[in-house]
Amino acid sequence: TTEPLAQIIAKPEAQQFYKQREKYAHKGTYGHTLVIAGSYGKIGAAVLSAKASYKTGSGLVTAFVPECGYTVLQTAVPEAMTLTDKEDDLITEIKLDFEPSAIAVGMGIGTKAETVRALEKLFTTTKSPMVIDADALNCISENKSLLEKLPELSILTPHPGELKRLVGDWKDDFEKLEKTKAFAKQHNVIIIVKGANTIVAIENRLYINTTGNPGMATGGSGDVLSGMIAGLLSQGYDPLIASVFAAYLHGSAGNQATHTLGFEALTASDIVEHIGAAFL
Ligand code: AMP
Ligand code: MG
Repeated sequence: TTEPLAQIIAKPEAQQFYKQREKYAHKGTYGHTLVIAGSYGKIGAAVLSAKASYKTGSGLVTAFVPECGYTVLQTAVPEAMTLTDKEDDLITEIKLDFEPSAIAVGMGIGTKAETVRALEKLFTTTKSPMVIDADALNCISENKSLLEKLPELSILTPHPGELKRLVGDWKDDFEKLEKTKAFAKQHNVIIIVKGANTIVAIENRLYINTTGNPGMATGGSGDVLSGMIAGLLSQGYDPLIASVFAAYLHGSAGNQATHTLGFEALTASDIVEHIGAAFL
């Protein structure tokens, strides 16, 4: 084939991904995103991710959080609906009253055995496209049998530490990408290797993002990205486009934020606030 094995994603490529909002749309047109996130002391992960899904255009967003997150979510994200686990401090059983258009799961959920069981059930029963992030990745790394249960074309979004736990250590960047591609191919998933130049791996191909800045090296940044990807999936973007386009928009929102904030003051909430400008 003549398809390049690595492609750089800058503004012209990103513009081609964008799907125009329809004049006669209603909120049902743009899907219903489910964000499964949080544990005691980490409910902010759910807040950031749910907000980011809305800001990326999802028609509806529901957050599933431990009971202790209920008031937090309803207050911090009034647009979002909230479902809670029966446990106060962590996620143990994911009961839903709707079928999500897309799911982002794992941010701040921890790796306790009850949570691993809830994930296993989610992976084997869901029909929704899925973004798997953070502690959901750590749960998989600690329970490799979960790997066979991943729905095909799930999007995995590890930072370097999570990637290392998932695919093993590497001696240089070349080996890191080779291992990542092999893993993506073997398990039929998309892997987003997060960092200064975020790289999306699918089968034997790589997409290299060009947006973003070191101000984004700050807590919660990744939770925003997972919500954005799920938000695009809910609107009908296919998993590969959603991955590459979200990485671009996320970096671009971070770049927009630096115009008034510089690098040091930039927080994950500021990335969320600038998602709108990233679409322009
Ligand atoms: P996480 O570690 O899960 O919070 O994810 C961090 C997010 O911030 C990812 O989307 C990274 O791509 C992004 N990020 C972190 N450091 C940098 C950097 N130096 N330049 C650009 N983006 C970064
Ligand atoms: Mg993270």
